[in-house]
Amino acid sequence: MTDSFDRLKQDFPILNQVINDEPLVYLDNAATTQKPQTVLDAVETYYHTSNANVHRGVHTLAERATSQYEGSREVIRNFINAAETAEVLLTRGTTTSLNWVARSFGEVVVEAGDEILISYMEHHSNIVPWQQLAKKKQAKLVYVELTEDGQLDLDDFQNKLTDKTKIVSLTHVSNVLGVVNPIQQIADWVHEKNGYLVVDGAQAVPHMPVDVQALQADFYAFSGHKMLGPTGIGVLYGKRALLEQMEPVEFGGEMIDFVEEQDSTWKELPWKFEAGTPNIAGAIGLAVAVQYLERIGMENIAQHERELIEYVMPKLKQIKGLTIFGPEDLRFRTGVISFNIDGVHPHDVATAMDMEGVAVRAGHHCAQPLMTYLNQPATARASFYIYNTKADADKFVEAILATKEFFLNGLN
Ligand code: PMP
Repeated sequence: MTDSFDRLKQDFPILNQVINDEPLVYLDNAATTQKPQTVLDAVETYYHTSNANVHRGVHTLAERATSQYEGSREVIRNFINAAETAEVLLTRGTTTSLNWVARSFGEVVVEAGDEILISYMEHHSNIVPWQQLAKKKQAKLVYVELTEDGQLDLDDFQNKLTDKTKIVSLTHVSNVLGVVNPIQQIADWVHEKNGYLVVDGAQAVPHMPVDVQALQADFYAFSGHKMLGPTGIGVLYGKRALLEQMEPVEFGGEMIDFVEEQDSTWKELPWKFEAGTPNIAGAIGLAVAVQYLERIGMENIAQHERELIEYVMPKLKQIKGLTIFGPEDLRFRTGVISFNIDGVHPHDVATAMDMEGVAVRAGHHCAQPLMTYLNQPATARASFYIYNTKADADKFVEAILATKEFFLNGLN
């Protein structure tokens, strides 16, 4: 399987370059992915041939832009199997999507004394909006513990899920540990308690099949740029009945039906949430990215990443002084590997690996509560995607060994 992925690199012009005299090995895909030529072409062609504002004009270009923009929404709807395009809101990305849920839906359902349940493996964009809501409403933000090997502690989850829990907001896949959470099972538990489940899918939708109806999440957020699409475009899926109860977060042009001097009415879903001129080119680029992923097949992508991880993990385990975070059992993780080398700061690790042409990330990965929980100031992180190969995995291992040698001179 993985061999048939080897030719994908040629679709990504940026990958064909030399960094510090070495061919680039890009392993920072959890931060953002590279874009295939088809996506770059789609964005350029839109500006060359169809650029106009959407939903307003009657001239040919305006109609073209509108039909491409709304056509993109349909491509995305189909990809995540939402029941209707009214449930697919186009946003700036996961952060915006989660803020909209916290600020609009949270505003409707959370009251003083209620609890909002999140976990220690959340990204800041799935923590801070809930902190703000909790403060505003005098609600309590409760954290689910992790197991020893970095999975969500499901016993602790069930203990903390009570009649007071109004909203549960969890990541589908951790951007640090690569852990996949059992969202479908969790949705059942949350709904039994009459709570609502919000899912941060930023690290899931790019890497595995996601069917929002099967998952039964009430809201599901993700970003285009982590799945081969442009930056500045993302999605908030929400169940129609809930979106209808919510007020828009932003007000202005595009989202109104009728404006009088003192009051206004809103358009129907999904447009009532999309104030102002949207990221038209971004939506078009994202739809083409989705079509690219669909041609490969999301099951095949998940399998490819699993094969890469299964290939590289045993090699990493042989390296003395290397700590890898997250579950041992590779069935519970995607292609994200956070690691530290004893005695070398993660930032130095990333800098030294860059000297070998290998791009990895170092820092807290926007997950400071998780770093505290793991008792680490930071980690280095490699994250694999469709265009990475076994040769990249070998280069990754070599770069770690070279880094160790450089800093520790064989001492560790
Ligand atoms: N959640 C997770 C799990 C992420 O990995 C990220 C991106 N690092 C985000 C949320 C935020 O995504 P964005 O910056 O695209 O809004």
